[in-house]
Amino acid sequence: MGEGHELLIGREVVLGTRDGTVVTRTLPNKDRRMIGAWCFVDHYGPTDITGQTGMRVLPHPHAGLQTVSWLVAGEVAHRDSEGNAQTVRPGQLNLMTAGHGISHAEESPAEHSAMLHGVQLWVALPAADRETVASFEHHGDLPSGQLQGFTVTVVMGQLAGLTSAATAYTPLVAAEIAGSGEVRVPVRPDFEHGLLVLEGSVEADEVPLENGPLLYLAEGRDELTLRSAGGCRVLLLGGEPFAEQIVMWWNFVGRSHDDIVEMREEWAHGTRFGDVGGYGGVVIPAPPLPNSTLVPRGRKR
Ligand code: MN
Repeated sequence: MGEGHELLIGREVVLGTRDGTVVTRTLPNKDRRMIGAWCFVDHYGPTDITGQTGMRVLPHPHAGLQTVSWLVAGEVAHRDSEGNAQTVRPGQLNLMTAGHGISHAEESPAEHSAMLHGVQLWVALPAADRETVASFEHHGDLPSGQLQGFTVTVVMGQLAGLTSAATAYTPLVAAEIAGSGEVRVPVRPDFEHGLLVLEGSVEADEVPLENGPLLYLAEGRDELTLRSAGGCRVLLLGGEPFAEQIVMWWNFVGRSHDDIVEMREEWAHGTRFGDVGGYGGVVIPAPPLPNSTLVPRGRKR
């Protein structure tokens, strides 16, 4: 593999909250915890959920981050403690800025498509904005265009002259690129990037990539060449290398062990994160804290 490329192999994680759905978690990775402000990448499906509940994630809290829901197939209904209720479908973005604190639940609607396939991403908020008031955005009409025969949809940030209206707190990008043949994608040289295959297979800078790992691409490039004979759908993530050290534990991003202890206690006591409603007070309890002190860590080992 060439210089500036790393293949980040994912871990298979079984989510009890999703009918035992298996997800591939490529961020945080052992040696590289973040790409730009992107700090969490879970890829799930495609899974046939015909006649099944599908996704059912009970109310749980978030703080210090944004959650990004992006689907390739199916639908997910979001409800949060600020009273937002919004189903997301392929090509649309559900973006929740947790800031100081919010809780939400996500589930497959009772009437749902056969297949469920998507990614769940988190963006760490910078110190200046991590205590911001929680908010939710749905973007049903994202900017999309043709680039050398490929379809580019910009989810967050800017790419190929297209700009998403989604709120970001640090310079970053997320875009879906789908098609076959060859495309040279212009990228910002001050960004580092990650490339995840959602469907098909691709050669990125001659590196063959299939479903599974996340290809890390270091800063200092102004384009990325993608080749796919049989067709592909990929997700490109990028951003300015995140300079701050963070503590990421469970559903929280903080700056210290004490931040996390406080968030965990407030969730246990039913304060700070509100109430999603409709679940009769049933929520996902926080796991026990580790015996060791949580240490702030940088973007890579
Ligand atoms: Mn969540």
